[in-house]
Amino acid sequence: MTTDLMETTMETPAPTLAGEETQILAPLYPLPRLELASGRGAWAWDAGGRKYLDFTCGIAVNALGHAPRGLSRVVANQMGRLGHTSNLFAHRPGIELARALVRATGYDKVFFCNSGGEGLDAAMKFARARAGAKGLAGRDIVAFQGGFHGRTGFAVSATYTPSYREPFEPLVPGIRFGVFNDVAGLDALIDAHVCAVLVEPVQGEGGVVPARPEFLRALRERTEALGSALIIDEVQTGMGRTGTLLAAQQYAVRGEMTVMSKALGSGFPIAAVLLTDDTAATLKPGMHGCTFGGGAPACAAALWTIERIDRPAFLARVRRRAATLEKGLAKLAEKHASVSEARGLGLLRAIELAPGFEPPRLVALAREHGLLLVRGGDRAVRVLPPLVVSPAEIAQGLERLDAALTALEAEKGSAS
Ligand code: PLP
Repeated sequence: MTTDLMETTMETPAPTLAGEETQILAPLYPLPRLELASGRGAWAWDAGGRKYLDFTCGIAVNALGHAPRGLSRVVANQMGRLGHTSNLFAHRPGIELARALVRATGYDKVFFCNSGGEGLDAAMKFARARAGAKGLAGRDIVAFQGGFHGRTGFAVSATYTPSYREPFEPLVPGIRFGVFNDVAGLDALIDAHVCAVLVEPVQGEGGVVPARPEFLRALRERTEALGSALIIDEVQTGMGRTGTLLAAQQYAVRGEMTVMSKALGSGFPIAAVLLTDDTAATLKPGMHGCTFGGGAPACAAALWTIERIDRPAFLARVRRRAATLEKGLAKLAEKHASVSEARGLGLLRAIELAPGFEPPRLVALAREHGLLLVRGGDRAVRVLPPLVVSPAEIAQGLERLDAALTALEAEKGSAS
């Protein structure tokens, strides 16, 4: 921005983009949206200069908060040295990031792409190729009710919400849905026709529903017994969100593949499919690829991010902050008749609203009280502060949520 422009902006409030975006953008999001102009840490400012506590975190992307110090320099330096190369060439940030991921997670190999959906598409393709290479009979994939894996072809086919899938049918065939957390049903669900099982350790978009430990362990045992692959979707839960680098580490479960994205690049689009050697050995050059995947600037951003998050002291602090938030949300659930449950793992949390109270209305009221929240599932509202949130910011967030819930209940009281 030139100095002239900055001066003009200071004198005259910037016109809002809301009107423009309804005219020019495809109507896929509820437009018009709040226009954000800047951010720092847990805080964001709208185009009119109003300040919000941002507990959406770019839908669990901005783990280190808005505009973390040092990131722009790392990315600019990399862009200044070597930007896009495509997958035709190797570069140091890509290899260093792959090494850091392998070291941190115990997997052996990495495939890079750009988004969570792309990562899940790749993982499911790899699972079918693996089944072929290993001579397994089945090609079916099991996913779960309430699960969300993205909007790309394969990922949306494995996503449960019918309204996300049905307009685009026919989808990728051979995907069946089981009941999440139902251990008793697993033997019947996962038979010899199944080459892979896809699961989130905590269903995030589905309303923040943690897997029961015995469920994940049973999935591991059942897939192992049949030789099929366990694919763990850590797009939302990964990168420290639940208090460990991967949520599955808390369950002591490892898959044949894990997909990470969202917070990996601190806002730079990147995803990583982590694979065991045994699974990687079933893939061949040319089978799959991605022009932008694992580009040097995105890898530099992700390397910088993982170096900050994958530290024992950092993760221990996330767990302490999570305990504070958990207690605060439990108190709000006790106090407010509008909240039927508070739940989650680490700093991936949600409150479920009681019948008669509408999540979009709570999101709107919270915004009026200076708190940004995002829905999850049909009945829940997610609370996703950045991992660097301070105790004072958690206290402020809880106060604002308390006020928004009081307003929500008052509206219902005055309507009845
Ligand atoms: N998997 C999970 C668990 C997610 O939460 C999401 C996005 O919310 C995705 C996959 C899809 O990621 P993306 O939107 O980057 O394609």
